[in-house]
Amino acid sequence: MSKSSELFNRAQSIIPGGVNSPVRAFNGVGGGPLFIQKAQDAYIYDVDDKQYIDYVGSWGPMILGHNHPAIKKAVIDAAEFGLSFGAPTEIEITMAEKVQQLVPSMQQVRMVSSGTEATMSAIRLARGYTNRDKILKFEGCYHGHADSLLVKAGSGALTLGQPSSPGIPADFAKHTLTANFNDLASVKALFEEYPEQIACIIVEPVAGNMNCIPPADGFLQGLRDICDQYKALLIFDEVMTGFRVALGGAQAHYNIKPDLTTLGKVIGGGMPVGAFGGSQEVMQFIAPTGPVYQAGTLSGNPIAMHAGLASLTALDSPEYQQLAIKTKQLAEGLKQAAAEEGVPLSVNYAGGMFGFFFTEETEVTNFQQVCACDVEKFKKFFHLMLEAGVYLAPSAFEAGFLSLAHTEQDINNTIAAAKKAFAQL
Ligand code: PLP
Repeated sequence: MSKSSELFNRAQSIIPGGVNSPVRAFNGVGGGPLFIQKAQDAYIYDVDDKQYIDYVGSWGPMILGHNHPAIKKAVIDAAEFGLSFGAPTEIEITMAEKVQQLVPSMQQVRMVSSGTEATMSAIRLARGYTNRDKILKFEGCYHGHADSLLVKAGSGALTLGQPSSPGIPADFAKHTLTANFNDLASVKALFEEYPEQIACIIVEPVAGNMNCIPPADGFLQGLRDICDQYKALLIFDEVMTGFRVALGGAQAHYNIKPDLTTLGKVIGGGMPVGAFGGSQEVMQFIAPTGPVYQAGTLSGNPIAMHAGLASLTALDSPEYQQLAIKTKQLAEGLKQAAAEEGVPLSVNYAGGMFGFFFTEETEVTNFQQVCACDVEKFKKFFHLMLEAGVYLAPSAFEAGFLSLAHTEQDINNTIAAAKKAFAQL
């Protein structure tokens, strides 16, 4: 029995499902998860000492690759001074300034400890600021597990076949309206029905929790226009896309300015961090300057801030452009390999994220198409790739992530492994 299997057995008796976040359990692909010992650059190593080229990257934050020397040093140096003070520190200002420099629409920034906290807080702020209760999200978009947002969510919830969850009172869920991603008419219809009741639209500007779906031409601009027309706030949830689709996030890539932006994992460089921000006027509505309450004992934690600043500083370099170039190489390589083996495959990518779909459709642009893809084929492909030393996200509904540490050789090896796997499907 492998050490991973032994550990999974042990974990299941003490941790629900053996994991601390559902998608890690491999329910979406079958079999048991790998237990990881260490990670370096583009590779993770399991407890059985097998090396894998990693396209999960801790679900996004490892844009520089694992165990980057500057981030490691920042964490170790900061730890010398103490782990948490519960009082203001200079590094919080420097970090907020760096975020603001890279994402100028975030005139003011509040740090939190996870993406869920960031979106939950941004929603509360939008409701408080507009004095409206309803929010609009898109089917298949995931914004963390806050009650209002776990309605028709993607990702783990989708993998488990639980678009919503027990435990969320219908009275909460009724305030969450859901529209179809890349379908402006579905958004307009809801605003026409509730013209003065919708506080905000929250959207993943590139959807990454129903695999990878870029916005159709005009979709994000359309959302901006509708929000302006109805005086609702536009929230870009850039927990996944921030610093990954472009250094300035999807909002820079598609040139659309949201009212509020939420950031997560990526800004911690691997530490638990999230943030939300927007115009000074809206952000002043947050306590202690404003009436909308929001707080966190470990928010702005000094170790996390140092790790995040080191990560953003290292990303802010000319080499950053390589991320999109490498991602394109991989995505196009996978497409070609599949075609050579006669496997119908559709591929999407944006900046440093990608997704592939086992489908006859040439382009996958919406949730319905994602749901119609061949998940059984994905499962088989996933395990063939794992055997070949390539670690993909263990779900057909997750985006893949590259890092700057992935080499040309890694990408070529991945494409070669995929070609062999396609031949066996
Ligand atoms: N928003 C998006 C777009 C996400 O992808 C995620 C997590 O994957 C979240 C929010 C929630 O972040 P966290 O898991 O840090 O709470």
